Amino acid sequence: MTVRSRKIPLPTRGIHRRAGLAALTLLLAIVAGACGQGGAPARSGSPAGPLRVVATTTILADLVAEVGGEHVQVESIVPKGGEVHTFDPRPSNIRRLAEADVVFLNGLGLDDWLGSLVTDSGTSAPVVRLGEDLPGVTYLSGESRKGGTVNPHLWLDVSYAEKYVERIGETLASADPANAADYRARAEAYGSTLADLDAGIRARMATIPAANRTVISFHDAFPYFAAAYGLTVDGTIVDAPGQDPSASQIGALVGVVRDKGVKAIFAEAQFNEALARTIADETGARVVSSLYTDSVGDAPQDTYVGMMRWNVDRVMEVLAAP
Ligand SMILES: [Zn+2]
Repeated sequence: MTVRSRKIPLPTRGIHRRAGLAALTLLLAIVAGACGQGGAPARSGSPAGPLRVVATTTILADLVAEVGGEHVQVESIVPKGGEVHTFDPRPSNIRRLAEADVVFLNGLGLDDWLGSLVTDSGTSAPVVRLGEDLPGVTYLSGESRKGGTVNPHLWLDVSYAEKYVERIGETLASADPANAADYRARAEAYGSTLADLDAGIRARMATIPAANRTVISFHDAFPYFAAAYGLTVDGTIVDAPGQDPSASQIGALVGVVRDKGVKAIFAEAQFNEALARTIADETGARVVSSLYTDSVGDAPQDTYVGMMRWNVDRVMEVLAAP
């Protein structure tokens, strides 16, 4: 099936972003002028040094680093702990794109702000949206398949991360043919690591008692995680990152937690946990703290595998007890 990504409808932020991009475009024109004509020579075949890869998030960058090994130099545009949904690009991001050999996005509305930067940078690097055109997507809470926005957080189901890794392997192999066999071998080996991780998570979470499988989350990051590992998400605290809920929305959510016997509230390392604590205090639900969703953290959560293990440890601490 084909999935068309859509921009997240945040009108005021969109206006702000357009103004920011206009300024960036102007600055790029100045930088390009100062550099004289030509720019980097066109590459043919494999690049001379490491393949220069830009990814939008630290999670995607880690997957690329695993597959690329010594052959790639990968950078994330959104820094560790940064917020991809509301990210404001900087002029330095355009320079990095202009120098890139390959660009990876998630797509599905998560990081589509990169599109205009890619255009402005003038890069001829392939731009690959790792999450697009994969089966089984769902829609952001409160939205429907008709006209709704696809939920982009596929990677929190490890089986989707395996699909990302396959795409990364094929993309790097065609961008750097001299090392193609190595990229494919590394993608296969890392894919096996992820398959083991997925099986391990399934086995652990299968032991959660049925009565403990209903949760709410801070932002709508967990539908694929929940579907893969047997949880039900019955609500979110914010409609989208950056959109604080009203008192009446919090009141309604407290009602949902009580009515549906929600066991836990998934709070996230990159967002303030105060609202989750407030709802927990009102209802007796427990908070699962410091989950990593859109960014890796500090060691040992500084890799995709590390953050998924951490997340499952936190979930099991709260949900596995009878
Ligand atoms: Zn998110």
